[in-house]
Amino acid sequence: MNDMLVSNNMKPSLCPVCGGEQFAETPVLWPELVNAWQLSKRETAYINRQQGFHCKQCLNNLRAMALAAAILREYRFQGTLDQFCEVGGEMVVHEINRAGNLTPFLEKLPAHKLIEYPQFDLLDLKIESESTDLVVHSDTIEHISNPERALSECRRVLREDGRCIFTVPIIIDRMSRCRTGLSPSYHGQFGINADDQLVCTEFGVDMWKFVLGAGFSSCEIFSYEYPAALVLIAKK
Ligand SMILES: [Zn+2]
Repeated sequence: MNDMLVSNNMKPSLCPVCGGEQFAETPVLWPELVNAWQLSKRETAYINRQQGFHCKQCLNNLRAMALAAAILREYRFQGTLDQFCEVGGEMVVHEINRAGNLTPFLEKLPAHKLIEYPQFDLLDLKIESESTDLVVHSDTIEHISNPERALSECRRVLREDGRCIFTVPIIIDRMSRCRTGLSPSYHGQFGINADDQLVCTEFGVDMWKFVLGAGFSSCEIFSYEYPAALVLIAKK
């Protein structure tokens, strides 16, 4: 892996998705969401960066770049995700919900399948067991009523050496909490309270418990940029 592509605690010099060299930052959080999530100034800053810092060429944000960097690192590929997908061969990849703007790259893999809401039910994937090498999702399971079961469903479809590589927004100085009984909170865009954007779980530093509780044998937390861009790598 080219060290240029994975730099901690500083912005990337090259986009790990497309190799782009120009970046921009747009704040994405709005006051109602910040209040519902009870974010401090620092937390607001790093979540804004995670969601709003982006490559001007492929438009992927920091979390999608982190996801790409985690995949490249996991498969020991030196180059961009774009190049990886060009030569990725028969690797079977299920992308559940569009992972940022990674889809146009991932779909270059012949055995890539995109499963989008509302066709998919992450608690009951219509995918054969042990048929998949890699499951990818990005900021999706915080919207699922039972995230541990969703992860266990991801594990079910993986082959013996398969991996589930994904992101969720993690607030690193607190424990996870279920939003049941709290006022509804939505991600996505300000003013659009779509049902699929309703937040069920706010994840914290104990995120690993959901992964191991789902039956995975290991949970690695890959830091592309701490604490704004963390990726979970779950191995079957
Ligand atoms: Zn890019």
